[in-house]
Amino acid sequence: MTQYVIIGDGISGSSAAETLREEDPESEITVITDEGEALYNRILIKEHAKGKLPEAPISIHDEEWYEDRDIELSLNTHVTSVDTDSKIVHTHEGDDLSYDKLLIATGGTPTQLPVENSDADGIHHFWTFQDARKIRESAEAADDAVIVGAGLLGIDFAAVCGSQGVEGKYLMRGDRWWRYALSGDGAEIMHDGMREKGVEPVFDSGVDRFEVDDDGHVVAAVDPNGERYACDFAGVAIGLSFNTEYLRGAGIEHDNGILVDQYMQTNVEDVYAAGDITRFYDVLLGEQAQNGSWGSAKEQGRVAAVNMAADDEAEEFQWVSSYSITHFDFPFLSFGHPTLGDDHAERRYSDTEWRRLAFKDGKIVGGVLIGDLAPQSKFKRLMREQRVVADQKDVLLAETVDLDELAAPQEP
Ligand SMILES: Cc1cc2nc3c(=O)[nH]c(=O)nc-3n(C[C@H](O)[C@H](O)[C@H](O)COP(=O)(O)OP(=O)(O)OC[C@H]3O[C@@H](n4cnc5c(N)ncnc54)[C@H](O)[C@@H]3O)c2cc1C
Repeated sequence: MTQYVIIGDGISGSSAAETLREEDPESEITVITDEGEALYNRILIKEHAKGKLPEAPISIHDEEWYEDRDIELSLNTHVTSVDTDSKIVHTHEGDDLSYDKLLIATGGTPTQLPVENSDADGIHHFWTFQDARKIRESAEAADDAVIVGAGLLGIDFAAVCGSQGVEGKYLMRGDRWWRYALSGDGAEIMHDGMREKGVEPVFDSGVDRFEVDDDGHVVAAVDPNGERYACDFAGVAIGLSFNTEYLRGAGIEHDNGILVDQYMQTNVEDVYAAGDITRFYDVLLGEQAQNGSWGSAKEQGRVAAVNMAADDEAEEFQWVSSYSITHFDFPFLSFGHPTLGDDHAERRYSDTEWRRLAFKDGKIVGGVLIGDLAPQSKFKRLMREQRVVADQKDVLLAETVDLDELAAPQEP
């Protein structure tokens, strides 16, 4: 009987466990997580912090779900090391677990700002349900906040401020929000959205240090220009550090994420990885890439499990990820790899509508849509089909995209 061990009960680990049970009904499956609760919807915890959603609908699985599938779930258990020669996983409680096949699905942990007082009371990072509960509590009691990190997670803090009636100062390093994927035109729409929520973007800023009161609670952030911003709480979202420290000495290749091929296999036999933690070979992009998104993590867990159970390279991961933001009056969606590419095309259609596509070797590799998401499925289809279309930007940027207007694909 094959023994599978999965480290991490996020969406990638949990989806792998479910698939393994279907693919290999007679096996032993153990899922280990250092969190105190089974899988919940990480995407929805921001709605809880905003004060808009109670706890119950955020949980996805209760412990019974694992029992029903004969999956052993170890909560509150931190894996401290893995011995890939003797195929043993060690936990903080001194338990040793043998495996035949191992899945690493441990995601990341929010990176702390390397500045004075960055661990003070009232300074929050956004990753777990527990974080969201604390953010909600802080925001409910706050008048002013500071936000740092001009990306997809930072903007969730801006939305929390807006919903909880907190005045926010959003301190950004450059001249705009998510400058790697948005031009000034696109970012301006987002800045207006923030202002409408009572959050003021502050450009060419950041945090040099936090000031605290006698109880160690944050009271202000001081930026590199010497400007002081009083705050009752601060939200920091400057990126993720991948949870690989327990793999030291295990011989598993990693480079800002665990390197896997398109089958989710690492360089070590019988060791697979899935979810945020992977730097996977993206068959559509033709290079190693990363996806920090729910749908991608779920699919990677499923594909890894299929290959683990098949004992073979049965299925490859091929996926166009997407990430949407619903905090404003207009919708926002990024798909694929909008920060990559060697060519771009963009257009602004109105005060709340904008579109940008990223191309590599003439093919769409990602994009951002603001205001009108209607063309998303067409762009994703072109990306999946790897069509060379960068020479037909006028068709792609037309308000209504008609794929029939594209020149027929050339025969290879
Ligand atoms: C606030 C927030 C909003 C988001 N919004 C969106 C969105 O709108 N759309 C979208 O697509 N994505 C969104 N994401 C990203 C998405 O949630 C992640 O991409 C996805 O959850 C990653 O799943 P995962 O299974 O790879 O990792 P994780 O969910 O991070 O799970 C990893 C698990 O492993 C555990 N673990 C780590 N180390 C160990 C260890 N040594 N021993 C035992 N257990 C360990 C961790 O505690 C964790 O439970 C959001 C994320 C956050 C935090």
